[in-house]
Amino acid sequence: MMTNQDIFQRAQQTIPGGVNSPVRAFKSVGGTPRFITRAEGAHIWDIEGKQYIDYLGSWGPAIVGHAHPEVVKAVQDATLNGLSFGAPTEGEVVLAEKIAELLPSIEQVRLVSSGTEATMSAIRLARGFTGRKKIIKFEGCYHGHSDSLLVKAGSGLLTFGNPSSAGVPAEFVSHTIVLDYNDIDKVKKTFEEVGHDIACIIVEPIAGNMNLVKPVVGFLEGLRELCTAYGALLIFDEVMTGFRAGPKGVQGLTGIKPDLTTLAKVIGGGMPVGAFGGRKEIMQHIAPMGAVYQAGTLSGNPISVAAGLKTLEILSRPGFYEKLTSATEALITGLKEKAAKHHIAFSADSVGGMFGIYFRSSIPTRFAEVHESNITAFNTFFHAMLDEGVHLAPSAFEAGFVSACHDNEVLNKTFEAADKAFAKVAA
Ligand code: PLP
Repeated sequence: MMTNQDIFQRAQQTIPGGVNSPVRAFKSVGGTPRFITRAEGAHIWDIEGKQYIDYLGSWGPAIVGHAHPEVVKAVQDATLNGLSFGAPTEGEVVLAEKIAELLPSIEQVRLVSSGTEATMSAIRLARGFTGRKKIIKFEGCYHGHSDSLLVKAGSGLLTFGNPSSAGVPAEFVSHTIVLDYNDIDKVKKTFEEVGHDIACIIVEPIAGNMNLVKPVVGFLEGLRELCTAYGALLIFDEVMTGFRAGPKGVQGLTGIKPDLTTLAKVIGGGMPVGAFGGRKEIMQHIAPMGAVYQAGTLSGNPISVAAGLKTLEILSRPGFYEKLTSATEALITGLKEKAAKHHIAFSADSVGGMFGIYFRSSIPTRFAEVHESNITAFNTFFHAMLDEGVHLAPSAFEAGFVSACHDNEVLNKTFEAADKAFAKVAA
């Protein structure tokens, strides 16, 4: 039988680091990544045939559970008509209409193939629309890997403790201002100094790439006010939170209306997709209507659109979010109980179907606080859980994801595993 180690070694011969996205390599937790052969509902199976309860959820998309029969059927049906046309389809129109219906801040939306493309294009649009150069992002928020956003970014980079990426000329990021998440005073000061040069603020309205960090009261409201006052655009990067934190994303939870929103993950139901949208007046600046260029061979791919549409349909069924939210809340309550039993400094938080676990006694609100977590304890916990058949995100700086298939049986098994894992942390 081929082991994870065998295939990982082989992978490293022809794929840099053996993986196609850095955080998959287990660098921060050590050990061997699991090579997945199959997923169904709340479970994944590795190449050795071992089953895991999955809290990775493909990093967010798997909200209705893996290989949901209706989503699989929609994809299968779509494939019979051809995989890609490079010409418009009705499905794209229906998906755009659905997104606009669900998120009132969006009047028009352009589909792309990833979250990175969505944020990169939204930034270009914001610059093109305002005629300004500078953008604000927040330390610990990750918006994909385009040059101007790869500045002290989170996710994989944060995990490696690398503040930026080689290969990005300083000039390319010279217009990106990086501020501290949840520090509205710094944002105010920045606007007082250079407000009329700022094209946009891009923010994860609930951050999920420095573990889970919620906005403090007044932060998002303050961003909205400042953008409006100075004529800058507010971009909510809801690639992770969109249809995950709640049925209308964070904008639905807070009532704060961004000028532009970026989406991906859930709206592709596990297939590659992304989107950016907002007011028509702004979106009309995109080619072919306007002067801001943006395009994509596989944009609005019919298979991705079919998976996304079916996923959104399933999400809209009565009680979906109530069930998902209460399962996620039950998860963190159970984990906190087990941690307390073993006297571990531990806290946890959740919103909708995403959660954060922190090896520190209180929930962090700042990037620096996230870094005060006990990383050694997390790594021990992570591997003990993996041994017990529970697959968490392989980094202390990532949020976790629950699906509609994480029922009581799955949760109870998670708690049994956590009991043993926390005991190892305490030892
Ligand atoms: N924005 C956020 C908030 C994300 O979480 C991610 C990916 O995790 C991205 C953008 C980039 O999306 P993608 O990986 O699809 O390029």
